[in-house]
Amino acid sequence: MLKLEDEVSILHKIAKEKKKDLAKMDIKTIGDLLWHFPFRYDDLSEVKKISELEAGVLATVKVTVTKIRVLRSWKKKMMITEINATDNEGELQAIWFRQKYVSQILKVGDQIYLNGKPEIKNNTWLFSSPNYEKVKAVNIHSARLVPIYHTSGKLSQKQLRFLINLALKQTGEIDDPLPVDLLNKEDYPWLYQALQSIHFPEDQNDFAIATQRLKFQELFYLQCKYQLAKKSYVQYDTWPMNIQEKTLQQIMKSLPFKLSNDQIKVLKEILLDLEREQPMNRLVEGDVGSGKTIVAILAALNTISQKEKLQVAFMAPTEILAWQHFENIKKLLPEKYLEKIAFLSKDRQYFGHDLITKQEALANIKSAKAQIVIGTHSLIQEKINFKKLALVIIDEQHRFGVKQRQALKQSSTGRSASGGKNTSRVPHLLSLTATPIPRTLALTLYGDLDISLIQEKPQGRKDVKTLLVPERKRLAAYKFIQEKIDQKQQVFIICPLIDESDKLGYKSVQAEHKKLNEKIFPDLEIGLLHGKLKSAEKEDLMKRFKNNQFPILVATSVIEVGVDIPNATIMMIESAERFGLSQLHQFRGRVGRNSLASWCLLFTTDDSHLNKERLKALEKTNNGFELAELDLQLRGSGEIFGTKQTGLLKLKIANLHDTKLIKKAQDWAKKIVYQEKYLSNHQLQKLLLDLKTEMHLE
Ligand code: ADP
Ligand code: MG
Repeated sequence: MLKLEDEVSILHKIAKEKKKDLAKMDIKTIGDLLWHFPFRYDDLSEVKKISELEAGVLATVKVTVTKIRVLRSWKKKMMITEINATDNEGELQAIWFRQKYVSQILKVGDQIYLNGKPEIKNNTWLFSSPNYEKVKAVNIHSARLVPIYHTSGKLSQKQLRFLINLALKQTGEIDDPLPVDLLNKEDYPWLYQALQSIHFPEDQNDFAIATQRLKFQELFYLQCKYQLAKKSYVQYDTWPMNIQEKTLQQIMKSLPFKLSNDQIKVLKEILLDLEREQPMNRLVEGDVGSGKTIVAILAALNTISQKEKLQVAFMAPTEILAWQHFENIKKLLPEKYLEKIAFLSKDRQYFGHDLITKQEALANIKSAKAQIVIGTHSLIQEKINFKKLALVIIDEQHRFGVKQRQALKQSSTGRSASGGKNTSRVPHLLSLTATPIPRTLALTLYGDLDISLIQEKPQGRKDVKTLLVPERKRLAAYKFIQEKIDQKQQVFIICPLIDESDKLGYKSVQAEHKKLNEKIFPDLEIGLLHGKLKSAEKEDLMKRFKNNQFPILVATSVIEVGVDIPNATIMMIESAERFGLSQLHQFRGRVGRNSLASWCLLFTTDDSHLNKERLKALEKTNNGFELAELDLQLRGSGEIFGTKQTGLLKLKIANLHDTKLIKKAQDWAKKIVYQEKYLSNHQLQKLLLDLKTEMHLE
């Protein structure tokens, strides 16, 4: 008997020979092979009589071979195998070109299934290169729902099907990882049965039952991981805080705007979490421009206003953004807080207004002189010693996975060497995301987080008018841009690429910048921003753009998250079809941040009907959640995040909008991770341990 962990190559010589092709599809073990599910099934279950055949219509017949000949076609010098066969009532012929082995496999007297589109030639039925399979007790290639797989290289459908069938036979009854209790209550088949049925279903119903169970299992594992992560995080002590109402009120009064109701609601939720003994793990979701930052700043303020000198790490995905947060905080908080705030990046460090050395910065953090430390995610990845890190704020949470959270925990607990009795405490976590994740997806992705929503926009915001512009109106668009620039407004132009290296003809910032500079706006200064610039250069550029020192910024998607340029009113996007709808919505959110009317102009490189239809959704709605749902339906979950980086989304069979099943999986995961009755079960213990290990490896 084979085990799921066994290498696939020991299965059969075909698996050994095609090891590389299998590996390309991530099939390395027997288990991987069995979890390589068909993407569709051909229904060949109906077997016809020869007398029922119709010309050109796909059909399967069951016949006996009466004659086999191997011929050579004299014109093309090609080998032809020709057979005659009968079903006792009618006769037919079948031929295969260049497939000599057919004549070695089939013998006169064999019963076979033939599947193909027959034609009438010389008064008899002729199948050209049909699929064939000898009739057995159980057939896998014909006379059934035949599974069709994604395959790679020289590995054929038939070979893959053969290997999977063999693997099913040789693994025998696989131990079922799910508790019997669960299987009974949900009426799910055993795992072995489900795998058998997903590959070689008896009928539609059999297939449906197997699918349901396998989908459940996948979501259940995911949810178990989240529950485990949550459980292990929550078991640590944290820094419970008092709510500093007076201080907060004061600051709120001094702000240039009044907080929206949603902002206040979310702030309250956060403060209640901060009061508790268990660490907070909360995600604030709000559309671009909904004003998440100020809420986070107020939470930070509450943290540093405690009697103890507690600290806050405020992390952003890019340095541009971290710098912007630093400047904002300096602006919003009164002067006396300045001497508590540090900015830390690879090549520069600030403390309040002062440029300091990295060493000084690290010393300030270690002594808790710096109470709010702003930087990129490297703040937790590098070994930076905080004295009393009580709150971690993570802007754009979807870039921040379980692994980093794990690192955070480890670096917090590993700090015991620095002494003191509070060393095993972990900080509260507050994540912010402008990616409006549909609720179901949030549940799946962030099953271990509490979620707060900011749905209303700050008052006075106008919707950004969005237009899909045909190429012939390009010059008119440039003229429009010129008019706005004459009124001292600013423009973003986004391209998907840095250099013109792409074969598909998508626009690059280098080429567009050159063209605009030389031909379209020769009198204007045009900035160029992309990921290859040094961080100091990027910041300088953004600073000058923010101060309206030049009118046009050509940029790649580095600009995507959070950059705030109040004076910008036009967002022009080239090769827009290259981006997901949510990502485009993010770009669009860069404008419309003041009371002026704003525009988002979309241009396409490939203006196929499908692309246009998809992009039209942006014209119709300004609601980020709707767009995210659409992305999810049209292009799968990876697209919501712009890239497909998140390993958590590699679902094989389940999908992320199956709310009911996700909920069911979550309920079961909670029971199994927390209830004594299940925890004492050896098999489940092993499963949870495996999932934990997997989580650390992700
Ligand atoms: P996001 O949620 O996308 O991170 P920000 O926090 O950057 O949005 O806020 C966008 C802009 O709106 C900022 O300039 C911020 O100062 C401003 N802002 C935040 N809250 C309000 C409010 N209640 N009323 C008016 N403007 C606000
Ligand atoms: Mg933001």
